Amino acid sequence: MVTRDDILAALRGVRDPELGGDVVELGMVKDVDVAPDGRVHIGLALTIAECPLRGQITDDVQRRVRALPGVTDVEISTSAMTADERANLMSIARRRAREHARPTQVSPTTRVAAIASGKGGVGKSSISANLAVALARQGRRVGLLDADIWGFSLPRILGTTERLHADDDTRLIIPADVHGLKLISTGLIAESEDTALMWRGLMLSKALEQFLTQVDWGELDYLVIDMPPGTGDVQMALSRMLPQAEMVVVTTPQVAAQKVAMRVADMARRSHMPVVGVIENMSWFECGHGERYALFGEGGGETLATELAVPLIGKIPIDPAVVDAGDRGRPVVLGDGPAAEALAAAAARLTELLPPAAEETCTGRIARLLEDLDRTAAG
Ligand code: ADP
Repeated sequence: MVTRDDILAALRGVRDPELGGDVVELGMVKDVDVAPDGRVHIGLALTIAECPLRGQITDDVQRRVRALPGVTDVEISTSAMTADERANLMSIARRRAREHARPTQVSPTTRVAAIASGKGGVGKSSISANLAVALARQGRRVGLLDADIWGFSLPRILGTTERLHADDDTRLIIPADVHGLKLISTGLIAESEDTALMWRGLMLSKALEQFLTQVDWGELDYLVIDMPPGTGDVQMALSRMLPQAEMVVVTTPQVAAQKVAMRVADMARRSHMPVVGVIENMSWFECGHGERYALFGEGGGETLATELAVPLIGKIPIDPAVVDAGDRGRPVVLGDGPAAEALAAAAARLTELLPPAAEETCTGRIARLLEDLDRTAAG
């Protein structure tokens, strides 16, 4: 049965997008009640009742807690903090900012989408690259991390041979700038068999750690991560270093999804990474006459989404343009056609599910409130 501690651990993955801290350390979690039948009630105290981030924070809490095994329902009630609680929260936030103990170079407010699949060859890398490019085209600040350390394919898909180098002063690695996004991949480092061998000796999770701590990512709205296949330690390392990371699962329409679903659910559970949704790739092929053929079967995306109780973010048709674009290094979303449209729509849906940190902020209002309080106290 799920315990209060399990729930608090999961809630540590929910960050206040402005203050950077997680909702537990910021004192925003007031009550956690677990009923014997797995229903959970969570009481959240928001900085102010009309906080514009309310929807985002409660959605995140829902997803995190619902992902825990044994949880059947999640009810959230919100209230506003008292003046004392707000003052306490601001002092925690100030201390955080002062200590600046950022474990990685990725901002705590960056939304992290780890694109994963239960097996190889389903188009995970093509989808990662196209989602990232589509987000950048929407005007978002986007990073793309190729965590498929040995099986890297993003440099080819994005058409870059740029070599990574470090900044002389900061010693941080500067990502390649390609199609309006920042790219990091071992494919931009490994030049010869020797260097490739060197990387092979490195633990995968260590390589990921390097890419999160020693790359100058700057301020990003989104970091898209092309995850390596499998359920290994990379997922664990990612959720440890970037607690805000969430998973997007790519699958094909084949209803051999059952096994894949279990593998993915297991991966999410073990790494405490909630699943945001499912993308079905290679859903159908449309011939010149507008007729659709389900070459790889039907229903796999829906089945997997239902089993994981998450939305189906999109269905991407089979489009020869994807292969061609991948070979030419110009992602298909930059052009048009059935796959381009479906991928752009999937990226738009993803921004609804994972909205970027709000521009309108509560912090300014809290600061003003605190000033008012100080003034009242002084007067
Ligand atoms: P993964 O990362 O899962 O191994 P890739 O992204 O490398 O998969 O894709 C495998 C192959 O399938 C590539 O040749 C790619 O161009 C092709 N592919 C991926 N998605 C589509 C699609 N929607 N239509 C046609 N070909 C696709």
